[in-house]
Parts: sequence; structure tokens; C-alpha cells
Amino acid sequence: MGKPVPALAAAGDVGLTALPGVGKAVAEKFAARGLLRLQDLWLHLPRQYEDRTRITPVRLLQPGVAAQVEGRVEAVERGFRYRPLLRVAIGDDSRATLVLRFFHFRSQQVNQFRVGARVRAYGTPRPGQQGLEIVHPSYRVLDDEAEGELGDALDPVYPAIEGIGPATLRRLVAQALERLPPAEELELVPAARLGHGLPSLRDALLTLHRPPREADVAALLAGTHPAQRRLALEELLAHHLSLRRQRIALQAHAAPALADDGGRVQALLSALPFALTGAQQRVFEQIRADLARPSPMLRLVQGDVGSGKTVVAAMAALIAIGSGRQAALMAPTELLAEQHLANLRTWLEPLGVRVAWLAGKVSGRARTAVLAEAASGAAQLVVGTHALMQEGVVFRDLALAIVDEQHRFGVHQRLALRDKGAAAGSVPHQLVMTATPIPRTLAMAAYADLDVSAIDELPPGRTPVQTVVLGAARRPELIDRIRTACAEGRQAYWVCTIIDESDEVVAQAAQTTWEQLTAALPGLRVGFVHGRMKAAAKQATMLEFKRGELDVLVATTVIEVGVDVPNASLMIVENAERLGLSQLHQLRGRVGRGSQASSCVLLYQSPLSQMAKQRLETMRATSDGFVIAEKDLELRGPGELLGTRQTGLADFRIADLARDADLLPEVHRIGEALMREAPDIADRLVARWIGGAARYAAA
Ligand code: ADP
Ligand code: MG
Repeated sequence: MGKPVPALAAAGDVGLTALPGVGKAVAEKFAARGLLRLQDLWLHLPRQYEDRTRITPVRLLQPGVAAQVEGRVEAVERGFRYRPLLRVAIGDDSRATLVLRFFHFRSQQVNQFRVGARVRAYGTPRPGQQGLEIVHPSYRVLDDEAEGELGDALDPVYPAIEGIGPATLRRLVAQALERLPPAEELELVPAARLGHGLPSLRDALLTLHRPPREADVAALLAGTHPAQRRLALEELLAHHLSLRRQRIALQAHAAPALADDGGRVQALLSALPFALTGAQQRVFEQIRADLARPSPMLRLVQGDVGSGKTVVAAMAALIAIGSGRQAALMAPTELLAEQHLANLRTWLEPLGVRVAWLAGKVSGRARTAVLAEAASGAAQLVVGTHALMQEGVVFRDLALAIVDEQHRFGVHQRLALRDKGAAAGSVPHQLVMTATPIPRTLAMAAYADLDVSAIDELPPGRTPVQTVVLGAARRPELIDRIRTACAEGRQAYWVCTIIDESDEVVAQAAQTTWEQLTAALPGLRVGFVHGRMKAAAKQATMLEFKRGELDVLVATTVIEVGVDVPNASLMIVENAERLGLSQLHQLRGRVGRGSQASSCVLLYQSPLSQMAKQRLETMRATSDGFVIAEKDLELRGPGELLGTRQTGLADFRIADLARDADLLPEVHRIGEALMREAPDIADRLVARWIGGAARYAAA
């Protein structure tokens, strides 16, 4: 397709000072909201509309429904009741009366409201002392009988910009829109590629800024109007292209082809007390094939809690090690990293593999020693936390970087570990593991830069966790449940949550629970961990629990991720209504890891919101992580699901992955075609939506 069209870039890429009345100071206020160019204003869409295209008879007004009315002033009352007050009663042909009420006003305003004057007002009526009233309506006194022709478009209400009044904002956006180029010039997505009968970009923008009076306002407010779908499609496309470009940039690098594991994988498999599940085998084969290629692997392994991701990671590491190179595994918390360390040492050291450990708390000589081992290559596998990414950590030959539970890390961190291997002009292969299943559609958008595999099968012999949802009043019964479980030699978790997310308050609540349980359960050993504890103390308590030296562990949600204590069979979550689905799913995943029957009790505090009710019901109904993830997406939306930090996906201006998920296959299709046939257009789409501010500067 064609070369860049200069006119096009010029039209939208102009700074906002090009608009009359916008100087440096005003431009800075826009810039504070990320609005720099004319095209950013084109995309600053209304959050609401006001319909001043029609007049509603006063008699038909409904409380809570904004409307425009017109009538004649019947009475004016000015007074003080605690504060200045102006009440203007207007009546119309429907022979009903509406009160306009003002608390702030100038005397000049008062004088306008002569009895008999014609007034047109817009606002949301609500029940008042004498029928409906509108507080602080926007209004106009129509002096001239001929005045007052109705417009034919709805008025936009824009998201506020600090320091710029709504009227000015409206005017400036309108001026920016006057400079919209003709449709053919503005269009980047070839019409032939657009299915769905969607409008042109120009029409879509004009419709959204000034919808015609007959527009489907409900659809507009719900974000499902074709004009919005058109923009969402383009925005999703731009993000897709941006991620794909990152991937291509990465794959332009060389990576070591790792083919020879020196028989170590087989040796590990023979030594394991279990056989791999079909899903583990399948995913491992995908990884093995990736590693054998001389370009970097970039693979995300999704696997529900307990699906056995660690052993797959270990096998991948063995391929790197067998090929004479190094691997690193990074986990988001020290606890998790140590757990990996313990597992990997048990599995790999008998095979003669040297496993080293690096966390923040490793300091002094120990640290110097680890760094030396990493640099010399003596450490074949280095397990650790973020500490692995610090400056000064150098590998001789890092060929595989494994990141566990990637939701705790951002994209940038992922990249930082990758850069540790940039030594000989090649980059390491990357394996990312997450226990948070992501709905397929979302994965497509969020991970266009990754290949995705799923370990979608749990090891055999696991008994599904029985989930019960109970009102907080039934808390006392749980003491018995704990007693019973522990009498059978099992262990229990008791997780405390609280609305105020500050660690301190949660810690206090957990402390109180710990004291109560200790008192109520004489003879049982009750431990306590919370986020404000020193890492070492937390660690020590967790280990005691893991070794069976504690029967009950009272905890804040710090235990959420990855902790593996197969003997624990009871999980109690207090105030479960406060947690999101994926968090609840993670917590429940702490039990049911052994072969005995396990249960999860979700205690809630009434009254439950509709959302909370649905979440708890979902937890009761299913234990399938993917089903839960789909539901989570539906209930919360993708921003919360993925975290802004991680992908920037939550920064969509218009698109909403939950709502617009059905557009993704088409986004995919158009995206691939553009990359192939019109890379220059792809560039411009990315620039238009994501801007010059390189979101992924590190990539
Ligand atoms: P996750 O995917 O949540 O990280 P882990 O790797 O911690 O899961 O595995 C959970 C538990 O299951 C561990 O104790 C692990 O040794 C065990 N495990 C892994 N694979 C299998 C399997 N195929 N059969 C039986 N147990 C397995
Ligand atoms: Mg794990």
C-alpha cells in the first residue's frame, strides 16, 4: 500500500497551541492529562450527553431523568434558610409546576426571573417540598419570542480537565473537530477490511462528539454504539500492532539453540515420584521445540494452581544446563522463591546440577559468592527474587530466563531479566509462568507478544475442594471444623481480610483472630503471618507450618500465591466478599493439594452487594480456573484483571476488553494483514493511539 501521506500526519499531529485561545498555560493543563495533539482531543470523548434537542412537558418529568423544560415564571422566592436561597417556579402548557432552586446566585440573575418570563432549563429533577425541583439547572431566559430554536445534536459532556471549564473544553474540542481531515485522509484501516458495517473514523468521531438527536443514547452510554465499536476496533488494533512489533523486534535477535539436555530430563522423570500429566508433557514438548530454535522463545505457560508448572520449568532449565549454559528462575516473593529453591534442589542436585540462591537478604560474602558463581557459570541455575535483576548480577551465559507468577511483575521487569543475557549478541529464551488463567480472548490481546500454552489438567488423585459460603454469624461453628480437621492430622488456614487495605489494620484484625483462635483451640498450635512481619520471621512461621509444626495458620492474604502445603485441608477466608475472584481462587488453591478431601469456607459479612453475591456463587459453583477467569472478566473488567502495571491494557481510551472481546478475532486478522502489507500504516496506527511516548521504551 501507499507511502505515508504527509497531510494526514500534519492534520492530527499538530500541538494544541494551534487552536485559538490555547497558549502555553492551557496546553500544559491538557498535557497533564496526556492530551498533546489535536488528535488527542478528537479522541477525548464525552462521558455523557445532554439532550437539549427536545422539550419535555413538566408533567412528564421523571425524578432522576435529566431533561430540558420550558415554561413561564410563575413565582420567585428569595430568602435565607441557613444560606441564601432562590426558588423560581415555572409552569408550562402541561399545567404542571417545576421549581428551579439556586443556592449561589447573583442579584442580576434574580432580576432576570420576572414573573411571566420565558425560561428554558436543563437538569435532573428530584422530589422537592412542592413537587419536582431541579437544583442549579443550566438555564436561559428567552427574551425574544422568536428565540430558542432547538438544536439537532446532543450536547457532549467531557471528562473534566483540571483548570479548564466545561464550556471552554467544549469549544476547544469543537474547534479541534473542525480540523478533522476528510474521511479518506483520516482513515488508516482500509474500509475493505472492516466488517461489521462500521462507520468511517470521521463519521464515528463526529457522531460520538455530537450525536444526532435520534441517536441511541442508551447504546452510547453503554459503549456499544457502532461509532464506539469502530473506535474500539481501531484502538485494539493499535495495541495489538504495538505488542506484535515488540515481539518481532525481539525475534530479530539471536538466541542460543538449546537441543541437548545430556539425558538429564529423562533422569529427572525417572526419579520423580509421579508421572507427568498429559498437559505437562504437551507443554514441555512445546517448550522443547521453542528452545531448539536459534531465535528467542517467548512463551507464557498458564496453569491453574497445583497444575504442576514448577516441574515443567525444571525440565526446561535442564535443557539449557545440558547445553552447557545457565538458567535463572525469578519469583515475586522470597517465600515463593525459596519454595522453588527447595524443590529444584531436591530434583536437580542429585543430577549434579549446581543451584544457587539470590534474594535481597543474601548479602556480604554470601552475595559475593553467588555473584561470582553466576559470572563464572559455576551456578547452572540461579533461583531468586527481583534481586536477580539488579545491577551487578552478571551471568556468564544465561540462556533461559524463567519468571513465575508474572502478574506480580511488570512487562519491564520481564525485559530486564532478559537483558541479563545480552552478552554475546544473543538474548535468552523466556518462559513466563502464571497461575492466573486468562480468558482466551483476553490472552490474545494482552499477550500478542507471547506464545501461550496451557497446563489445563490437574495431576490425578486430587479431590476437588468442597466450597461452602457462610454468613459471618456462623463463625463459631468453624472452631469445631478446625478441631476435627486437626484431630485427623490435617492443617488449616484462616485468612483475614479487611476493607481498609492498609497493612497495619489487616495485621491487627489478624492478630485479634489469632488471639481468639489460640484461646478457643487449646492444645493446637496456631501460628500467625502478616505482611508487616520481617521476611525472615514470616518465612520461619511458614516453614513451621509446612513442616507440620503448626496446626493452624492465621494469615493475611500474603499467603495467596504459590505456597504449597499438601497436608493442609481446610481454608477459611473471612470477609470473602471483599476479595476478587482470582484472589479467592488463589487462596482456595492452597488446599486440595494432597489426596485427602479438602474444604474451603468463605465467610461473608452481610449485606452482600450484587457483585459480591455473584463472586461467591461462582466460587461455590466451579473450581475451573478458566471459568472463574471468564467470570472475573465479566464482573470486573480487564483492567483489574490484568493490572495496569502489567500491560497498559487498562489505559484504553475507548475499548473495553470485556465488552469488545468479540472484536478481537477481527483485530487479529486486520493486524496480521497490515503487518504484512502495510507496515507504514501499522506504524501510524500505533502512533495515533499509543502516541510517541514510547510505552515500552525498554523493549
Ligand atoms: P503450580 O502449577 O501451582 O506451581 P506446583 O508446581 O507447585 O504447582 O505443583 C503442585 C504440587 O503437585 C507439587 O507438590 C508438585 O510436586 C506436584 N506435582 C506436579 N506434577 C505432578 C504430577 N504430574 N503428578 C502428581 N503430582 C505432581
Ligand atoms: Mg507455582
